[in-house]
Amino acid sequence: MASIFSRIIAGEIPCYKVAEDEHNFAFLDINPVAKGHTLVIPKHEVDYIFDLPKDEYDSLMSFAKKVAEGMKKVMPCKKIGVAVLGLEVPHAHVHLIPINKESDMNFFKGKLSLPAEEMTEIAQKIADAIK
Ligand code: AMP
Repeated sequence: MASIFSRIIAGEIPCYKVAEDEHNFAFLDINPVAKGHTLVIPKHEVDYIFDLPKDEYDSLMSFAKKVAEGMKKVMPCKKIGVAVLGLEVPHAHVHLIPINKESDMNFFKGKLSLPAEEMTEIAQKIADAIK
């Protein structure tokens, strides 16, 4: 069965889309640890990121760099933090998180639940900054 992220790519499940290219897709995490928390995923459904063929891994990371550069322009932060966990959803994904301090990368603290209008606005702002 297709992963929830493959279903998002297929348009079967809604998301706050940020960017897409031939091989990769980026959208806001539905329960962000910080505003602008974005997930970058390969369209090829593979559970464990390091099982991706090298060319697809390189493509994913180059795409993540492009997305992170856009995020940095419009989300007030010191840096864009990068994390790969993958224990919840079995479809490789890179977390990109605007951070000002180490604790902003804390996945165990309470996650944010932002109104749909704000999520739409953030996704659009990042999307525009990537173009
Ligand atoms: P992990 O697999 O541990 O890296 O965590 C999966 C991440 O995916 C969590 O941060 C979830 O909030 C996020 N997530 C799960 N379902 C969705 C969804 N439908 N849309 C956006 N983000 C999601």
